[in-house]
Amino acid sequence: MYALSVKDISVTYDKQLALENVSFAVPEGSITGIIGPNGAGKSTLIKSILQLLPTLSGNVEVFHKPIKSQKKIIGYVPQRSEVDWDFPTNALDVVLMGRYNHIGLFKRANKKEVTWAKTCLEKVGMQDYATRQISQLSGGQQQRVFLARAMAQDAKVYFMDEPFAGVDASTEKAIIQLMKEWKAEGKTVLVVHHDLQTVNDYFDHVLLLNKSPIAYGETQTVFTLDNLEQAYGGKIAFLQKAPATVKEST
Ligand code: ADP
Ligand code: MG
Repeated sequence: MYALSVKDISVTYDKQLALENVSFAVPEGSITGIIGPNGAGKSTLIKSILQLLPTLSGNVEVFHKPIKSQKKIIGYVPQRSEVDWDFPTNALDVVLMGRYNHIGLFKRANKKEVTWAKTCLEKVGMQDYATRQISQLSGGQQQRVFLARAMAQDAKVYFMDEPFAGVDASTEKAIIQLMKEWKAEGKTVLVVHHDLQTVNDYFDHVLLLNKSPIAYGETQTVFTLDNLEQAYGGKIAFLQKAPATVKEST
């Protein structure tokens, strides 16, 4: 059973191709890393899968049904730099937004929903910040609030865009632990990631992307120097030992 199947996605911005013929299929209950250099189209891929962008061509299915009909079971944690953090709202409300699929737009969250949202904040260590404006949180705290929102949503397939960017080590640990819990519950997680050192530890599957897929499959098969060099061009030299030296902690 595939949780996600992507066929032939191509995307252009102002007639410039950003993604070309991207196809891959992700098994249920796995954690997949989407890896590639800056500008490779990683964020574009996630946004086009989620239909937040118009695509030139392509077809996306979630559990073998058109993604349009599956939105309720999809969670999305956008890249932190793409979020308007000045939007006047507090941490608890951001988490409650994750429940709109369950509550219904324009309906007030009931006590049970609020309690659940607070539990999610607690799970990421943010219970003391429920009423804090999101503009007044640190980067790591903002990321934790987004994590709580994703958790509150109780989706089956999660998309996370660079969740580790600019967060401290303890937040990174909390995020990876949550991802592994989700996986243990049979959920499927896709993560845009750029730290090559942690790829072996974090992901079962890897999609190496540079406009089009360079390689896709199980991490140990795909995450090789040869493939990395193809994806990153000549810029990979300083990473010579990366694939071999990452096996320290699990
Ligand atoms: P990544 O997330 O891998 O760093 P992106 O998906 O953000 O890459 O971007 C892929 C390419 O598309 C880049 O060359 C980027 O400059 C371009 N791009 C991204 N968003 C837009 C946009 N809204 N308008 C025009 N070009 C864009
Ligand atoms: Mg990006």
